[in-house]
Amino acid sequence: MRFADIIGQELVVAKLRSLAEQNRLSHALLLLARPGTGGLPLAVAFAQYLLCDAVQDPAPSLFDSKDSHAMPPDSCGTCPSCRKVSALAHPDLHFSYPVISRKPGTPSLSTDFAAEWREFVGQYPYGNDFDWLQSIGAENRQGKIFAAECIDIHRRLTLKSYEGRLKILILWMPEYLEKEGNRLLKLIEEPPLGTLILLVAEEYGEILPTIGSRSQLVRLPPIEAPSIAKALAARCGTEESRAESIAAMSDGSYREALALLQHHEDDWLSVAREWLNAILRNGPVAQVRWVEEISKHGREKQKQFLRYMCHLVEASIRIQTMGATTAGCQGPEADFAEKLNRVAGLGQLQAMAAEMERCAYQIERNAHAKILFLSLSVRLQHILRDNVVLLIS
Ligand SMILES: [Zn+2]
Repeated sequence: MRFADIIGQELVVAKLRSLAEQNRLSHALLLLARPGTGGLPLAVAFAQYLLCDAVQDPAPSLFDSKDSHAMPPDSCGTCPSCRKVSALAHPDLHFSYPVISRKPGTPSLSTDFAAEWREFVGQYPYGNDFDWLQSIGAENRQGKIFAAECIDIHRRLTLKSYEGRLKILILWMPEYLEKEGNRLLKLIEEPPLGTLILLVAEEYGEILPTIGSRSQLVRLPPIEAPSIAKALAARCGTEESRAESIAAMSDGSYREALALLQHHEDDWLSVAREWLNAILRNGPVAQVRWVEEISKHGREKQKQFLRYMCHLVEASIRIQTMGATTAGCQGPEADFAEKLNRVAGLGQLQAMAAEMERCAYQIERNAHAKILFLSLSVRLQHILRDNVVLLIS
């Protein structure tokens, strides 16, 4: 994986490159990235950059002074080191990540799942911990970074580097380190010479504070929508206007964009139409039927639908405040947004968006879908029909 394979994040790449160039890298770097924004692929690309032959021994340029270290902008992608990192098989690149125990009550190590890990990172680098744990059959079991893994990290990092250069550990999701994580403190503070620890996390607040405070923090922002649209077009062959509209809904997450693309056939627009008709025209029986239908979907899809609705409502708000050309969607979606404007004023649209966001938040926390969607429908009905904007508690 090269920097060129990373979607967006140009500023973070530039920052990492300059830290390396100016020799200002600390022993432990914490990449903080929300799901789908590319923390893991960026860590791999950075490791590849640092281990690349062309970066380790840059060809001297005619104009370099004797001690300047002009480093190439990206790893070469073709040297033996790059090829080994790309295959996730470089002997000096180690990984640790949450796993499940193969046998109940027995701890597992990351290396027990090395083959599955290679496949996961190769195919789905923007996936999150949920995707990973499902891919190894966790179902309802909790993923863990076991105490035995911390001991194994010690062992692996104190081995001599195979190729006599840098040794790198990518520790993905340190949120899963429980108290045992404190065993790693000494290692993070004073790793063996020539060792770099790259922690890749989502939530700073869920990392052991002792670990967070010992690492150099680099935050990844959400990915810009145009970069996501470009990636969808190039990698999935998505048609341009579709890619743009998905990117606008994806909340800066390529993972979310892929999920939206996959569920494109769900035809959320029809679901949205049916819902508003039930709320505005067809009455309680139609509402209950609609709620029954949406409740059959899994939580991920329900959240996606709500995000889609928020996207439409936001388009309406933009049309109302800045004119039709600013909708941010096209075709039937823009029509829908225009129609929504005929039944709702600005305050009503804002109240609707707030209600739907709150509902998505509760779905994430496992609230009962049927009850939530029913109460949401009633609230939207009040907002729309009675022309009364409810105060959001
Ligand atoms: Zn290379």
